[in-house]
Amino acid sequence: METKLIYLEHMDQYACDAKVVNVLSEDGRTVIILDQTVFYPQGGGQPYDTGVITGGHGAKFLVEEVRFVDGAVRHIGKFQSGTFAVGDTVTCAVDIDRRQLHSRLHSAGHVVDMGLKKLGIQWKAGKGYHFPVGSYDEYAGNLNGADTAKMRADLEAACNEVIAQHIPTKVLFMKWEDMASVCAFVPDHIPDNKPGRVVMYGDFGIPCGGTHVANLSEIKSMTIRKIKQDGPNVRVSYAVE
Ligand SMILES: [Zn+2]
Repeated sequence: METKLIYLEHMDQYACDAKVVNVLSEDGRTVIILDQTVFYPQGGGQPYDTGVITGGHGAKFLVEEVRFVDGAVRHIGKFQSGTFAVGDTVTCAVDIDRRQLHSRLHSAGHVVDMGLKKLGIQWKAGKGYHFPVGSYDEYAGNLNGADTAKMRADLEAACNEVIAQHIPTKVLFMKWEDMASVCAFVPDHIPDNKPGRVVMYGDFGIPCGGTHVANLSEIKSMTIRKIKQDGPNVRVSYAVE
């Protein structure tokens, strides 16, 4: 059974009620499947959430890892007390500080896209890695001997100008073939025939399944750490304050 992914529409909702669909055992840990969840499973270059799921009679499950398999979100961890039965109503609560850091890092990765656009650089966005240590974006492109020290400083300034504009974000769902109307770069294929999700930073659209800040000002400020050629790609490493 597929898990309803509440974060797709409500990225700043950190708690929800849910029904227990399955309780499994895996490699000495317990896996909880729910009908819906606010927990983000690792993917799209963004780490998973952690947190707790609580039930009746003092049952408390510590969520240590979250994965997405065949449409189902697997909350992996251990019971601190009690247990759940299939059909129980439980309450999910994600670790808010961890999620907010991940959202800031993920959004900052897309602010790099916007900063490059401001500078008139048209590299094609590729994969992103938005983990707290060593975040980067990759673009298909060539530095062609450019002055990367100057480019780094210019891009950092452009990104922080974007952040200072207090741009609100919002989520749209649309078919893949319609995305080009709001997105500069659309991947060749959107997996799973799911309704395509586009995150709008003002009028800048990004096809993306991750979690993002509600307003780009929440990133506060960012640093461009390094720009370097890596085979056919340019890798831009960055950090948030
Ligand atoms: Zn993204």
